[in-house]
Amino acid sequence: MGRILEINLTDRTVTTYDTPRHLLETVLGGRGLGVALLQKYVKALCQDRVVQAFDPENPLIFSAGPFTRTGWPAATQFHVTAVSPLTRGLGGGFAWGSFGQSLSRLGLDAIVFTGASERPVYVVLSESGESVRFEGAEDLLGLSSSGVQSTLCGRHGDVSIACTGPAADKRSYLAAIMSEHHAVVRTGLGAVMGSKNLKAIVIPRKSMLAGPSGFKDLEVEMASKVASHPASVRLRQYGKSILVKSKNQVGDLPTRNHQEGSFEHASNLDAEAVAKYTGSLVPCPACPVACIRETVVPSGKYKCRVVGLEYEPIAALGPRIGNGNLELLAYAFFLCQEYGLDPIGVGGVIAFAMECAQRGILDPGDIGAGDGGSGNDFGSIWGNDRVILGLIHAIGKSEGLGRILGRGSLEAAWEVGGGAVYYAMQSKGVELSGQEPRQSKAFGLSLAVSNWGADWGYGLPTIDVAHNEAAAKILMPELLPDVLNVVDQKYKPELVVFSENYNAVCDSLGLCKYSAPETYAVMPSDIARGLSLLFGQEVSVDDVMKAGERIICLERLFNAERGFSRSDDTLPSRFSREPLRVTLFEGDRLKGLRSTGKSVEVVIDLDPMLDRYYELRGWDKNGRPAGVRCPRT
Ligand code: SF4
Repeated sequence: MGRILEINLTDRTVTTYDTPRHLLETVLGGRGLGVALLQKYVKALCQDRVVQAFDPENPLIFSAGPFTRTGWPAATQFHVTAVSPLTRGLGGGFAWGSFGQSLSRLGLDAIVFTGASERPVYVVLSESGESVRFEGAEDLLGLSSSGVQSTLCGRHGDVSIACTGPAADKRSYLAAIMSEHHAVVRTGLGAVMGSKNLKAIVIPRKSMLAGPSGFKDLEVEMASKVASHPASVRLRQYGKSILVKSKNQVGDLPTRNHQEGSFEHASNLDAEAVAKYTGSLVPCPACPVACIRETVVPSGKYKCRVVGLEYEPIAALGPRIGNGNLELLAYAFFLCQEYGLDPIGVGGVIAFAMECAQRGILDPGDIGAGDGGSGNDFGSIWGNDRVILGLIHAIGKSEGLGRILGRGSLEAAWEVGGGAVYYAMQSKGVELSGQEPRQSKAFGLSLAVSNWGADWGYGLPTIDVAHNEAAAKILMPELLPDVLNVVDQKYKPELVVFSENYNAVCDSLGLCKYSAPETYAVMPSDIARGLSLLFGQEVSVDDVMKAGERIICLERLFNAERGFSRSDDTLPSRFSREPLRVTLFEGDRLKGLRSTGKSVEVVIDLDPMLDRYYELRGWDKNGRPAGVRCPRT
C-alpha cells in the first residue's frame, strides 16, 4: 500500500498520508482512486459551492494502479481526474508509458494538486517521493511539448515527465497532458493543468518492485498469455491502424463529420498503407504486446516523425475530415502532439467547421478554404490541407476561429448560431471518438452514458464489434448469439454494463486496455488471482466486477450531484434522424470479414437502451443513483 502526495500550488505546502487500505480494497487505485479523491477534495475545499474547471479549488489528480508497481504485463497506464472544462462535470483520461510506473514505484498511489501557482512552475519529486522542489517554468512557456520534455530530460536526467504544450498555455479546452509520446487527450485536462500554472511534473524513473509471494509466477504466466493472444500478435505486427480496414467495410468509420460510415480513400490510411511509413517499434516498458511504432514521412512538405499514429488519430484526422492523404494526416498528428492537443477533439471540431461551411452556416473563407489549398484532391472544403493545418495552428495558438473551436464544437455551435448545433458531433461537450453509433449500437450507448463524455476509452464494449465469441462464451453465455449482432440493439445495455465495469477495473489497476478490456487476453479471473495475492485475502471474480460497478457509480454520483441527468446521456440527433446504409459482414475482424451481400439502413434508438441500462444499474429513470442530493450546476 502506498501514499498520497498532496501539493498545494498556491502556498507551496506539501503533505503526504498513507492511502487508506479500505479505499484500495474498494476502488483499487488509478481511475477508481481518482474519482474517490475528487469527491473528497471537492467536498472539503468547496463545501456547497459548485467548483468549475479553472477554479484553483479544482483538484488535479494523477493516480496509478497497484499493478503498475509490479512486473504485470502491460501495466503501464496512469489516470488523471479533475473537473473538466468540456463536460463541466467529471473529467478523466489515461495514458501509457513510464510515468505511471515511476509514480507508483516511488511508493505513491496518487499526487493531488490543489490551488494555483502565481507564476508558471514545474515540480520535481525527490528520489524518496517525500519532498518536492518547485522550479520556475517561464522559459518553458510556448515550447512544443517535445521541446519541454527534451529540456527537462537535459536538466534532470533519467526521469519520467508529464507536461503540457502551448495549447494548455492558452487554456484551450482541447489541451492534453503529454508524457513521452503518449498523452492524456480527452476532456481538456491539459487546460486544467495550465490554469494552475503547472507546466510539468518530473519524477525519477524507478525499476519494478517485487510483488508478494507467488506474484512473480503469475506475472510470467500472464506475460506469456498476453504475448501469444491472437489480437496481441496482430497488434504487434500492424499496430492499432489494423482497425481501419474492417471498420470501413462494416460502415463504422465516421466520415465527413458522420455524414457517412465508410470512406472511399480508406485504403490510403489502413495498416498496409501505414506500414510503408513505419520505422522502429517504440513499445512501453516491458510490454509483450509492443503495439506502438514510429511513423516517418521522410521528405516533402509534410516531413515529420511521429510515434503513436494509431486508429483514433487516423479516424479523427483522416475520414472524419475527408482527408485521404496519409502524409498530411501524419503531419496533422505531429502538430497536435507538438501543440499538446487532443487529436480526436481537433478532428471533431475541424469536421464540425467543415460541415458548417458545407451547409453555408460558415463562409468557406472563414475556415481558410477560400483560396483552395494546395495538394487538395477532395474538393474545396473536405480534406483541404490548408484548412486542416490552418485550423490546427489556430486552435493551438487560440487565435481567431481556433479560439472558438478550442472550446469544443458544442460551445462553438452556440457562438456560430444558424442551427450549427445539429452538426456538433459531441456528447457532454466532448467530441465523439472514432465509432459510428448507428452501426455499432453498444458503442453508441457507451458514448452516450459515459460519465466523462463521448470517449471510446470509457466503456470499451468490444466483444460484439470484435466478434469475440470466445470471451462471450465465458463471460456472458446467456446473451449469445444475439449480443454479437453489432447493429441489433438487443442485449447491448447488458454488454455495456459488463464492459464498463471491467474497463473501470483495468483502468484502476493500471492495465493497458490492449491487454485486457479491448482484447480479453487477460480475463476477470486472472485479475482476481492477482488481487488475491496483492491483498493477501481471497478476491473472487464477483468482487472484481463489483469494484468496477462501484467506480462507475462513484463517477455517476459526482456528476449527479452537479445536476447531470438523463438529458445529458445523449447523442447528436443525426444518429436517430438520418439512416445510414451499411453492409452486413460475418466473421472476425482480425482474421478477415466476409460480406453477406446484404445491406440495411440503421439508426440508433437510444431511449429503450437507456431504460434498460438504468434498470441494470439500479438507477432511477433519470439515470441517477437513488438517494443522491442533486443541486443544479
Ligand atoms: S499494448 Fe501498446 S500501448 Fe499498451 S502498454 Fe503495450 S505497447 Fe503500450
